Amino acid sequence: MLRVVEFFGFLYNVPHFSKGGDPTSNLRIGIGHDTHRLGPGQVLRLGGVDVPHDRSLIGHSDADVLLHALIDAILGAVALGDIGQIFPNTDEKNADRDSVEMLQKVMSQIDELGYRIVNIDCIVFAERPQLAPHTLEIRNRLCGILSVAVEAVSLKAKTGESVGPIGNEQAISAQAVALLEKVS
Ligand SMILES: [Zn+2]
Repeated sequence: MLRVVEFFGFLYNVPHFSKGGDPTSNLRIGIGHDTHRLGPGQVLRLGGVDVPHDRSLIGHSDADVLLHALIDAILGAVALGDIGQIFPNTDEKNADRDSVEMLQKVMSQIDELGYRIVNIDCIVFAERPQLAPHTLEIRNRLCGILSVAVEAVSLKAKTGESVGPIGNEQAISAQAVALLEKVS
């Protein structure tokens, strides 16, 4: 049976929306990936935190590559499209937009649909800077937005081993996995 769901103005035919493939499970998992180019600047916006650096990420919005991957993971878990559909980069409203605000909007929609985050796991791929000194601040920022304990927010960092667009500091990528549970 298909259920029609309206999400940010789009209509989706979602089969057995309240449950996953296993009708006894209320759990849904999603994956997200994003890449942004590096350009002139003095700060990296990662996970809603300004990390000091000698370059910045370039994009239509604030280019927060980690939050964009996370938003896609959350949307993927409930099979409701991707960030580009909801916040298109052709829309002037999204120019320099704060990705924290985008994530907050998605979370309030997820909440309305009766879902909560169980946990997330994320990886940032960056040759520089070293992210270890900033990961706890980013995790604390994310757990506040996601309404979960900090233990439910995992953040890891990998370099590009000095090869390819990551290793040559042309870009930074991020991946995220989100587990959601239907609670109402
Ligand atoms: Zn992006």
